[in-house]
Amino acid sequence: MTSRFVELLGCLALGSLLGWQQASLFWLFGGMIAGAVVWLALDTWRFRLLLRWLREADWSQEPQLSAPWAWVVEKVRRLQKQWVGKARDSQTRLDEFLAAIQASPNGVLLLDSDGRIEWSNQTAEEHLGIHPERDLLQHITNLIRDPAFSSYLSKAEFQHEVAIAGQGATVSKPVVIAIRIHPYGKKRKLLLSRDITAVQQAEAMRRDFVANVSHEIRTPLTVLGGFVETLQTLSLSDADRAKYLDLMALQAQRMQTLVSDLLTLSKLEGSPAPNRQQCVKASDLIRSCIQEASGLSEVLPGPRHAFVVNAPVDVLLAGSRTELASALSNLLSNAVRYTPAGGTITVAVGVGRDGDVTISVSDTGAGIDPEHIPRLTERFYRVDRSRSRETGGTGLGLAIVKHVLQRHGGVVDIQSRLGHGSTFSLWFPADRVRALPQGQAGLAPPS
Ligand code: ADP
Repeated sequence: MTSRFVELLGCLALGSLLGWQQASLFWLFGGMIAGAVVWLALDTWRFRLLLRWLREADWSQEPQLSAPWAWVVEKVRRLQKQWVGKARDSQTRLDEFLAAIQASPNGVLLLDSDGRIEWSNQTAEEHLGIHPERDLLQHITNLIRDPAFSSYLSKAEFQHEVAIAGQGATVSKPVVIAIRIHPYGKKRKLLLSRDITAVQQAEAMRRDFVANVSHEIRTPLTVLGGFVETLQTLSLSDADRAKYLDLMALQAQRMQTLVSDLLTLSKLEGSPAPNRQQCVKASDLIRSCIQEASGLSEVLPGPRHAFVVNAPVDVLLAGSRTELASALSNLLSNAVRYTPAGGTITVAVGVGRDGDVTISVSDTGAGIDPEHIPRLTERFYRVDRSRSRETGGTGLGLAIVKHVLQRHGGVVDIQSRLGHGSTFSLWFPADRVRALPQGQAGLAPPS
C-alpha cells in the first residue's frame, strides 16, 4: 500500500514540478492533475492485466506487477493451490468411494428424478445386465422389463423388495434377484440389487426337508395308530396280539432309526471338522462293519450273503472313527439290503499312485439306472421306495456317507449298471492317509 501511495505522490510531485516551471499557479495545479491522471492510467492498466490473468486462468504465467497488485497475484495463487489440493483430495475420496461401491456384492444404480441411470456398478451388470457406460442415461424401465418390477416402480411401494429373474436365468438354472429402491434427494432413487438364488434354494430345500421328515414319520405313526386301535377295539387271541405287538415294535424301530439318522446328519452339519491327529486302522474299520452287516444279512429272509475282503494293504485313516464307521456301515448295509439273498459283497482297499486310498463296497445286486446315480446322495432320494422301506431304509444313508467324506476331504463315487451290481467307493486324499507302523499286518479274512 505504501509503495502505491509513494507512486501517487511521485506522479503528483513530477506533475507539479513541471507546472511550477511555467511559474503560474494554474500550471502548478494543472501539472498535479496531469500527474494524478497518469498514475490512475498506470494503475488501471495493471488492474486490467490482473483481470485478464484471472479471466484466462493461465496459472503457469503470472503477470509481473508491483505491489499491491503483486500481493493480490500472490494471494490468488496461494488460494488456487489450496483449491487444487482440495479438489484432488475430493477426487481421490470419490474414486475410493466408487471403488468400494464397485466391490460391493450388491448391484448399485443411481437414478435421476426421471428414472434415468446416472451411475451403476459392475455387480448391477452381473445381476441385471445393465452396462455401466453403454446404458448411461437410459430409462430403467427400458432395461428391466419384468412386469413385477414395472408394477413395483409405478406403485412406488418401496418399503419392501421385489424379486425378478436375473441375468442369464433359465428354467433349469434359475437366477433370482431381489431389487429394492430407496428414494433420496430431489426425487432421486438408489436401486440396490442382490442375488437371492442361494437363499431361495436353501429355503426350498428346508421346506422339502420338513415335508419329507413329516411324511416319513407320519407313515409309521399311522400304522402304529391303526394297530393301537385294533388292540383297543377287538378282542384278539394271544397269538394275534403278539403278532400286532411285533408289527408295532417294527414301526417304532423304524421311527427310531429315522430320528437317529436325522440326528447324525445334524451333528455332521453342526460339529467342527474331525480331528486329524486321531487315526483309524482301515482293517479294524472294515472288520467291525462287516460283522454288523453280516448280522443284518442273518435277519433277512433267505441264505446269508457272502463277504469277501480284497485288501492287499492296510493303512491308517486320519479322522473320526465314529463317522468313518458310520459311512462304511451305511454302504455295507445298503449292499446287504439291495442284493438278493445269497449274493456276494466285496470290500476292497486300494492305494493310488499319489498315496490316496479308496475303500470300495461292490455287490451283485440289481444295479442302479444311470439316471438315478447323480441324485442318490440327496436326502430321502430312493430308487426303489418299497424295497428301502421293507428293509428299514430311511433314505438318509448315502447323504450321511457324502457328508462324512466331505468332512474328511474325500468323495463318494458310485458306479453301477442295471443287472450287474454296484460299487460304492470312499476316496481319501493322501494327506488323510498315514502309513502303518512296521510289522502291523494287513487284513485278516472275514470270519
Ligand atoms: P435307503 O435308506 O433308502 O437305503 P440311502 O440313502 O442309503 O437310503 O440310499 C438311497 C437309495 O439308493 C436307496 O433307496 C436305493 O434305492 C439306492 N441304493 C443304495 N445302495 C444301493 C445298492 N447297493 N444297490 C442298489 N441300490 C442302492
